[in-house]
Amino acid sequence: MASLPERSLNLDDSFPCPVCRQGQIEAIVLTEAFSCSFCRHILAANLDAQQVKVVDSSQPLLWEWTGQKWQLVRGEDAGELSLLVLLTAVVLTIIPASLVWLSGLIFPPLEQTSSLTFSTLWALVTLFAHLGFVLWLVGEYYQLPFYVAAKVRVLRFQTARRS
Ligand SMILES: [Zn+2]
Repeated sequence: MASLPERSLNLDDSFPCPVCRQGQIEAIVLTEAFSCSFCRHILAANLDAQQVKVVDSSQPLLWEWTGQKWQLVRGEDAGELSLLVLLTAVVLTIIPASLVWLSGLIFPPLEQTSSLTFSTLWALVTLFAHLGFVLWLVGEYYQLPFYVAAKVRVLRFQTARRS
């Protein structure tokens, strides 16, 4: 694969979008900000530092342009925050499901009909439902590229069907 020529971040050019990695970002007229053609995120540019920052997201993500690609810049408290988010995600996924499973264990059904009891099945449903919620929140919070791209595709599909 031929390597792309190095170029600096400037407002006259278009660059791949660091958020969704699907669209191209172009400068918004008369501003020092970029907008993505695919996910519509707005990124404020700092041309001296060669950095862009998402301004329309709860998480102020920052990327640095290396000349060919984007590199995520992590803040000082990023590690601490990631650990907290990971811990919360594990607790939210594990605790409800294990409570359901435990209650099935303490109060077993009177007649054992099959090896997979209703309470075990319910515990599995609880586990996957909570895992789904946690993955959705993590994707929304961190604006993960595959999550953002999938969300834009779903929204576009819905809009296309309506019109
Ligand atoms: Zn984008």
